[in-house]
Amino acid sequence: MRYIVIAGGVMSSVGKGVITASIGKILQQYGYRTTAIKIDPYINVDAGTLRPTEHGEVWVTNDGGEIDQDLGTYERFLGTEISKRNNITTGQIYLSVIERERKGEYLGKTVQFIPHIVEEIKSRVKEAGKGYDFVLVEIGGTIGDYENIPYLFAMKSLERELGKKSVIYVLITYLPIPDHIREMKTKPSQQAIKLLAEHGIFPDLILCRGKIPLDEIRKKKIETYANIEAEHVISAPDVSTIYQVPLNLEQEELGKKIFKIFELHPISKPDWSEWEKLVEVILSPSKILRVGIIGKYVDVGDFSLPDSYTSINQALAHAACHLGMGVEIQWVDAKSLEGEGGIEKIREYDGIIVPGGFGATGVEGKIAAIRFAREEGIPYLGLCYGLQWAVVEFARTICGIKTAHSSEIDQKTEYPVIDLLPSQREVMSEKRYGGSMRLGDYAALLQKGSQVFQLYEKTGRLAKDGERVNALKEKKESQFRLGRLDGEYVILERHRHRYEVSPQFVPLLEKKGLRFTGYHSREDGCNLMEFIELPDHPFFIATQAHPEFKSLLEDPAPLFLGFLQAMIKTS
Ligand code: GLN
Repeated sequence: MRYIVIAGGVMSSVGKGVITASIGKILQQYGYRTTAIKIDPYINVDAGTLRPTEHGEVWVTNDGGEIDQDLGTYERFLGTEISKRNNITTGQIYLSVIERERKGEYLGKTVQFIPHIVEEIKSRVKEAGKGYDFVLVEIGGTIGDYENIPYLFAMKSLERELGKKSVIYVLITYLPIPDHIREMKTKPSQQAIKLLAEHGIFPDLILCRGKIPLDEIRKKKIETYANIEAEHVISAPDVSTIYQVPLNLEQEELGKKIFKIFELHPISKPDWSEWEKLVEVILSPSKILRVGIIGKYVDVGDFSLPDSYTSINQALAHAACHLGMGVEIQWVDAKSLEGEGGIEKIREYDGIIVPGGFGATGVEGKIAAIRFAREEGIPYLGLCYGLQWAVVEFARTICGIKTAHSSEIDQKTEYPVIDLLPSQREVMSEKRYGGSMRLGDYAALLQKGSQVFQLYEKTGRLAKDGERVNALKEKKESQFRLGRLDGEYVILERHRHRYEVSPQFVPLLEKKGLRFTGYHSREDGCNLMEFIELPDHPFFIATQAHPEFKSLLEDPAPLFLGFLQAMIKTS
């Protein structure tokens, strides 16, 4: 096992996540089994209790972890499912050391930063990397932060333990071009190199991010300052799409340079043809489809919007490029649809999405948008909260239950068509908010012949009973919940929610024409509704899951693909 430690200099958001994922992709292309770990030096145990505007979207892993969005980037590039083990936070480290101390497991010793915290970090890194040839370890934050000192120390200790040939360091730094001088400055990067050196760490490779490519003069400066070979200073300028990054880094022969340092050789010859083809479409799509995403954006600055919905943006982009097209996303504040005539704005879009969400803000606007899309034949895709409000809208308008609601918003409603089931009610009454939602992969049994069934079948995502389902059953150690697999056709999608369609109202909704075409069959016999669709509509599909978490550039999510195909037909 070999480790590549990746740290960032100068400022945050230099694209460490994308570069880490790209290095992983490159190593994979050369035939090496590669995984990536994200270290988040905050005290939160996981990202589940963080507002998306703090750190971007909360990413959900198949084993139910609520994680920083970088893990999503790794999955999208590497194409493999990455466990929650691959996210290490300071909160987790201290929590487990303190829990062990309370149980007396340190046998009377003084528990200290060195060695106990450092050893805990190292053992988690080693555990997450088991079974891989390369482990990328991305250290969150910026060199010079107090918070990431323990991790730099731990990585240096790992190097001492395993030897220099097993651990290398990559510094990703930023070279600003201040407007008033119009010159690329290397000084902040020199300081980042110096700060790293204070921990005994000398980067083996320096990736220089910037608006434009690095020129020879500046390359030379960095090379001299860091005392590294010229070819180990690599230019990584801004790109139009993140999926260009591995291609550009390969032009700089990054893969070969890494192998040279480790004294390794490629196992196989890379084949980038499919990836290149898709990137080509992203850069020059034949048509742009306009998608309106109806959410609550009131307290979100313009800059944090795309970050809060990264996986949806990516899932749309993935699906679009398989159709030769591109997508333009418009963020529609649900509240703005509530006033007189506001709803007409929806006509500007080829299709609309109501994404996941929590709380009361803009809820009536979301319901109005869903009704408009349903009645006017505008393609609609509902994701989690988007399913819940579609059910409420249907109950109100079609079933005539004017006061139907979700008990998340109106706890006293007589008609809680969306409600907490007893197990979640208990969690909420005890105020156990962290890691207690319905989280991660759950199996859904699909109704044969439904639109949802067809989309999953066409994209090869359907496990037919007997084959993949049996394989799933055997995976006892994995944490995803299969429930009862009595149905014939099974799919897995990730979840992150507390509320469900109340089983009590399902017969009435069905009778009035809402089709429930997939459900999770819990071991106790309770069926949780996973998909709804309307037959006489160009595309009206919603899911209780988050299919955006299983979308890859090379393997787009079926519902997103179907949604865009419907938009092409109706636009
Ligand atoms: N707030 C809803 C729930 O908890 C939906 C959550 C979501 O959209 N992820 O069930």
